[in-house]
Amino acid sequence: MFRGQRALALHGGAGVLADHDYARERANMQALAEMGRDLLDAGASALDVVTEIVSGLEACGLYVAGKGASPNRAGRYELDASIMEGSGQQAGAVAALTGFISPIQAARAVLKETPHVMLAGRGAESFAALKGLERVESVNDYYTPAAAPDDREFPTGTVGCVALDLEGRLAAATSTGGTLNKMEGRVGDTPIIGGATWADQTVAVSCTGQGEFFMRVAAAKDVSARMAYGGQDLPSAARATLDSLGALGGEGGMLVLGADGSVATPFNSPGMKRAILHVDGSIRVETA
Ligand code: ASP
Repeated sequence: MFRGQRALALHGGAGVLADHDYARERANMQALAEMGRDLLDAGASALDVVTEIVSGLEACGLYVAGKGASPNRAGRYELDASIMEGSGQQAGAVAALTGFISPIQAARAVLKETPHVMLAGRGAESFAALKGLERVESVNDYYTPAAAPDDREFPTGTVGCVALDLEGRLAAATSTGGTLNKMEGRVGDTPIIGGATWADQTVAVSCTGQGEFFMRVAAAKDVSARMAYGGQDLPSAARATLDSLGALGGEGGMLVLGADGSVATPFNSPGMKRAILHVDGSIRVETA
């Protein structure tokens, strides 16, 4: 385990519009990356940092997650999220959660306070209520969908974060409103441990894109497996996983962070909104 180095990466979803000005998203991602850096420098755990950053991404309304989520075809906001920490491979997830401000906080509570990995639907809601998590008081007032339901060019906008803390621990978190125009009850890759989210002692992964394809190749875990069993280095493993889902017709991208602080952010979508804090302290924000 490498100790004494910290790094992180965050994303605001695969897919960008050529003619859209992403100044607000860039400023938001820069600010969150700086917040994450300060937390890590103060000794915060990777798990706490990915929770804080994804909560911030959910709350800002700029992405298709949390406040910016879109309703499903039945007009309901069903949100998915998952979180995993690598040192003990503990995980938590919620699927088709309605009525709560921060799905990632609910996923974290599942990790911390239940013997389970995933709670779905009504059970997830009851659990979030029991834990006193903040509710959405008025659906119509709270949600400000970041993308129009008929916006075929911009079907995705999940958020996620991977972090490496000073103790050498990795964590990953992903949260989404799902794909636009999804069927009622549709659950994508975001809450699937090993689908969109994975962390172990070697690598942390958070994916975004057409979830069905990421599920069909178990994308997040596939990156780790390629490194562990195939001996591939981090960038090659990430690229090979993306290529395998690309070969099925899938589109998207991923953040991959290694225990040595190395980062890869491959995507085959038109752009991916992302920010990276490298081990040398530099922050890069990119949308193309
Ligand atoms: N992967 C998400 C889903 O399929 C969508 C996204 O990444 O924006 O629900």
